[in-house]
Amino acid sequence: MTDHLVDARASRDLHAFIAGLPKAELHVHHVGSASPRIVAALAARHPDSKVPTDPEALADYFTFTDFAHFIDVYLSVVDLVRTPEDVRLLTFEVARDLARQQVRYAELTITPFSSTRRGIDEGAFMDAIEDARKAAEAEFGTMLRWCFDIPGEAGLESAEETVRLATDDRLRPEGLVSFGLGGPEIGVPRPQFKPYFDRAIAAGLHSVPHAGETTGPETVWDALTHLRAERIGHGTSSAQDPKLLAHLAEHRIPLEVCPTSNIATRAVRTIEEHPVKEFVEAGIVVTINSDDPPMFGTDLNNEYAVAARLLDLDERGLAGLAKNAVDASFLDEPGKARIAAEIDTYTADWLAR
Ligand SMILES: [Zn+2]
Repeated sequence: MTDHLVDARASRDLHAFIAGLPKAELHVHHVGSASPRIVAALAARHPDSKVPTDPEALADYFTFTDFAHFIDVYLSVVDLVRTPEDVRLLTFEVARDLARQQVRYAELTITPFSSTRRGIDEGAFMDAIEDARKAAEAEFGTMLRWCFDIPGEAGLESAEETVRLATDDRLRPEGLVSFGLGGPEIGVPRPQFKPYFDRAIAAGLHSVPHAGETTGPETVWDALTHLRAERIGHGTSSAQDPKLLAHLAEHRIPLEVCPTSNIATRAVRTIEEHPVKEFVEAGIVVTINSDDPPMFGTDLNNEYAVAARLLDLDERGLAGLAKNAVDASFLDEPGKARIAAEIDTYTADWLAR
C-alpha cells in the first residue's frame, strides 16, 4: 500500500472517531445554527418570505459567495424568526443537529434583542427557549445553556436591553450562564460596555465577549481588563502579542477557536495561516467551535477534523481537545466529570478495537 493510501485510510478513521466522540460546543450562535433543513421549516411557516422552501433552491441560497452574502442570508433567517413558536422550533431543531454530532453540552449564544426589538413578547421568548431546552435534553440527552450577547453594532441601547433581559428575576431563564458581546469590532470599542458587563457579572453570569476576531490584540486586552472576560470568543489576533499569549496561558483564559469561520470572514487569510498551533504551543487552553456552522459550510465535527490537521493530532489529541471544551464550559462539576469520563471510555474502546 502506498503512503498516500495509508494516509487516506487514517484520515477516514479519524473522521469516524470524531463523528462518535462526545463533545461540548462553547461558541455557536442560535440563528447562525439554522441549517437548510431548519430554514426550510421556518420558511414554510412564513410563505411571504424571500427564502426558498424547496431544498435544492435552498442549497443554492446557502452557497456563499462572499461575506456580504453571508450577512444577507443571516438577516433573512433572522426575519423568519417572528413568533415564540419559531423561536422554539429553531432552538429545538438546533439541538437535534448538535445531538447528531454527539454534542452532549452546548452553550448557545442568543441575541434576545433581535427578537424583542421585532416585537416578540420577552416573557414568551424566554418560555420558548426554556421549553426547547428541556424538551431537547429529554429527547436527545443534549444539555443546552444560554449566553445572551449584546449585538455590538446596535449600540448601548441594545446593551441596556440585553442586560435587563439577562438579570431581571422575572425574565432571566434558568439555562442562562453567561453574557457576551458580538457583532463587528471595528468602530465598536469594548470598554464602553463595561457597566453592562459589571451588572451581568454581579448577577452571577460569566463574561465571554468576542474579541480579537477582526481587530488587533488590544481588543483582547480590553475584553480582559474592562469586561473581565473568562473566555475569549475567537481571540485570533492574540497571536500578534507574545505578552498576551503568556497572560492567557498563565491565567488559563480559554480561547474559543472557530477555524472555518475565521477563513469565511477573512479574519485569517488561509487555513494554513491559522494561529491555533501557536496558541497550543504557548500553553493556552484551546477549544474548538463552529460559530455559525451551516452558514460557513461546516459543523463541529468538521472543525475537529480541521484542528486535527492543523495541530497534527491523533485520537488521544482529539479527545484532549474535546476535554478542554468540557473543562472550559460553565457546566457544573458533576456534569463535567460525567462527559469527561464518557470521552475517556469512548477513546479507550476505540483504540482497543
Ligand atoms: Zn461568534
